[in-house]
Amino acid sequence: MESRNSEWSARHSVATVARRTAALVNALTSGDSRDSTIDRAAVIAVLRGYGEYGGDGEDENVVPEGAEGPEAGAGRGKASLPRADPPATAATSSAPSVPSAPSAEDIAQMRTAAVQLRAVFAAEQVDQAAECLNRLLAGTTGPLRLTSHRGASPWHPHLDRDDDGPWGEWLLASSALALTVLVWDRQRPPGGICASPTCRDVFLAQGSGPVRRYCSRRCATRERVAAHRRMKKEPPPSR
Ligand SMILES: [Zn+2]
Repeated sequence: MESRNSEWSARHSVATVARRTAALVNALTSGDSRDSTIDRAAVIAVLRGYGEYGGDGEDENVVPEGAEGPEAGAGRGKASLPRADPPATAATSSAPSVPSAPSAEDIAQMRTAAVQLRAVFAAEQVDQAAECLNRLLAGTTGPLRLTSHRGASPWHPHLDRDDDGPWGEWLLASSALALTVLVWDRQRPPGGICASPTCRDVFLAQGSGPVRRYCSRRCATRERVAAHRRMKKEPPPSR
């Protein structure tokens, strides 16, 4: 019971919601061009991976892209399975007021929210991140309250206007809240955007240590190799 309890309460922890935020922002604003085509299945897989959607389970084997924590060296780890810590979900019965699958319109609203949330990850200074979050909090959220979804989940704070509110509002409010707590706790920007021009995924900052430029070791290595190749091709002009 002990471990189930800790899994139960970890499900809505700040760290889990922050990881879910990064994964959803990446799923909703993916692709080099960050264009408007969204892989709906990938979005739903992330939601399912974080226990936010029980769904019909037909694509149970879809790997929630980016559902692993950024500290797993993840980025867009297409081949890797989700780690254990996003409580692996749907099986744990507790889906209460089962939300309906996000419609195309919901996904479009979630994308709008994800674009706004990307701006928080783009902030390079903590003051910028705070200003950005303040704009989101002022414009889009309701009063802070606690909910247990009628006993179906651990008590956790909500900022959206209704427990069963639209997906887009839920994404923006829950994500803004988690990122706000990270800024409060760490006094540094909550994350960043991968410096690799072919990636541009958002990632969460580590609690301490130097500022990262890349979402993952994979991106850092690829860019280092590319820079090395460029240098060999074009030796610096001799004078
Ligand atoms: Zn990357």
